[in-house]
Amino acid sequence: MQLRRTSLDTGDVEQVMVPCGATLASICPSCAERNKALRTAQCREGWHLEDEPIADPEPPDECQRQLAAKLADLPAEGDNPLAATL
Ligand SMILES: [Zn+2]
Repeated sequence: MQLRRTSLDTGDVEQVMVPCGATLASICPSCAERNKALRTAQCREGWHLEDEPIADPEPPDECQRQLAAKLADLPAEGDNPLAATL
């Protein structure tokens, strides 16, 4: 990917090449090939999880419980629920 860099001091403009990081060869063949080589090396070196990560959220605190209770009661408070909460 070609970017233009302008020096704020001198006003000079230069073109710099930056890898786009695409992983699909249909988007950028050279970056896809580089990323594939990187992933291959990472797999060979064991850069992978042994188990699936399972997100275990914290139990809701008191404030979250009150907000959830208030949200659950909103439909019962008429046509303008915001008026009831303010
Ligand atoms: Zn690229």
